[in-house]
Formats: sequence, C-alpha cells, structure tokens
Amino acid sequence: REQKQPVLITGSTSGIGFAIAETMARAGHAVMLHGLASPAQGEDLQRRLRKEYEVSCGFSSADISSEAGCAQLIADTREALGNPAILVNNAGVQFTAETSEFPTEQWQKILAINLSAAFFLARDLLPDMRATSWGRIVNISSVHGLVASERKAAYCAAKHGLIGLTKVLALENADRGITANAVCPGWVETPLIQPQIDSIARTQEIDTEAARVQLIGAKQPLARATKPEAIGELVLYLCGDFASTITGASLPVDGGWSAQ
Ligand code: NAD
Repeated sequence: REQKQPVLITGSTSGIGFAIAETMARAGHAVMLHGLASPAQGEDLQRRLRKEYEVSCGFSSADISSEAGCAQLIADTREALGNPAILVNNAGVQFTAETSEFPTEQWQKILAINLSAAFFLARDLLPDMRATSWGRIVNISSVHGLVASERKAAYCAAKHGLIGLTKVLALENADRGITANAVCPGWVETPLIQPQIDSIARTQEIDTEAARVQLIGAKQPLARATKPEAIGELVLYLCGDFASTITGASLPVDGGWSAQ
C-alpha cells in the first residue's frame, strides 16, 4: 500500500491517541505510536495497525516529561519512519486538588507533559516541515483550554497554554504550508473517565448509565460523551487538503460545554 506522510502521535498507546492512530492508519498514513507501555504492548499495537491497515508503524516508550525524553522520541521516530510531517501532541495527564493544596510535583508534571513536551516536539520538528513547505501540527487541548473547572489549576493552565502555543505556531508558519490547530474535547469515552462514573454510581446508588449521564450532563448541555474515533476523524480532516486554510483555530468537540 502507498504510504502517506508519517504521523507522530504522542500518548497513542491508549484512549484518544490510539483512536487517532487507527484513523490515520486507515487513511494510509505511516504511524509512530508512543506512550508509557511495555515493549510487548507496543509490539502488539503495531502488529494490529500493520495487519489491519497495511501501513508502516513504529513505537517509542520515551518519557516526554523531560526535554531529553522528547529528543529521544524524535530520534526513535526518525529511525522507524523518517521525518514526521504531521505531529499530534496528545499525551496528557490529570491531577485534581484545590489550588491551596496542589502539590508542586503534580503541577510540574502536568505542565511538562501537557504543555512543554508539545513545545519541544514542535520546535524540533519544524525545521524539517519548513524545508519541505508542508506540515501539520494538531494539539489535543481540552474544553479546559477554553473554560475552567475547580480543582484543575495545573490542567487548565497547561491546556490554556497549549492553545496560546498553537496560535503562535500558526502565525509563524502561515506562509510555509504548515498549519497548527488545537482540538478541545469535552468528555470523551476513554478509560480515564470510568472511575469518575463508577464513583457517582456507588455513592448515589444509581446504575452506571444514570451515573454517566449525571457526570457528563453536569457540564455538557448535550449529555453524551464523544467517541474517541470522532476526535480521530477531526484530526484526519485537519491534516487533509480541505483544511489547508484552517490554522490557529481551537475547535471544541464538547456537546455545547463551552457555548455557555
Ligand atoms: P489516556 O490516559 O487514555 O492516554 C494518555 C496517553 O499519554 C497514554 O498513551 C500514556 O501512556 C501517555 N503518557 C502519559 N504520560 C506520559 C509520559 N510522561 N510520557 C509519555 N507518554 C505519556 O488519556 P486520554 O483520555 O486518551 O487523553 C488523551 C488526551 O486528550 C490528553 O491530552 C487529555 O488531556 C485530552 N483530553 C481527554 C478528555 C477525556 O474526556 N478523556 C477530554 C479532553 C481532553
């Protein structure tokens, strides 16, 4: 099968990232998987994509909470697939606490993974994108990059910051065939949100479905979680020809959450 431009998707061993990887592979892109998974898990995911979609695949388990880890990820990607013309900054972590009690390590970890890694990777991949006059950067921010919730100081700061970074990348590269955009999901059906649903079901003695509606409906007028594949399809669209004039945008996929 003819391969389209290689795409590096951070945090693609699970959840939204893996859904993006599958969508991009289905469309014929060579895919660099990445995340904190074992070599065996990485092998398994690569095998799935190669078999199902007949595309080239690589995997890196570099810890991108440091600049050196980001450099390692780029080296692993170049070795496996060559220069990625598409970068999807998706890896992210969460920790919730009142600001007055927020631990320093959690603040620094969230800023490092959710924001600084996107900066390091974009900075170091841009020269090659500029050399070919084509590139796509898609940053998976969050509705928490647009509005705030309590107990999420670090996450909201990082996700708002990621949108600011996206806008600068868009301006600096507007005449170079490179676009940069942010996607801002509300609730997405990933393993990440199940514990919160289970906890509501337990404490209020209601069934899982009612708990899910309650969790999601508390913030989203449209009380249904987005499927990870829907984020994948939007990323694919942003990487396609029809999106060549969409740049610097922050696109909510949030059931109306940020419209309020
Ligand atoms: P997830 O926990 O399923 O996946 C996170 C990925 O990041 C995993 O592959 C993990 O290995 C990787 N990762 C975490 N720390 C890392 C590190 N130090 N180094 C390398 N990789 C690391 O999460 P998800 O729900 O799929 O979220 C993906 C992105 O979408 C995140 O940026 C998240 O903030 C954002 N998001 C999620 C939701 C939601 O409701 N699930 C909503 C809005 C935004």
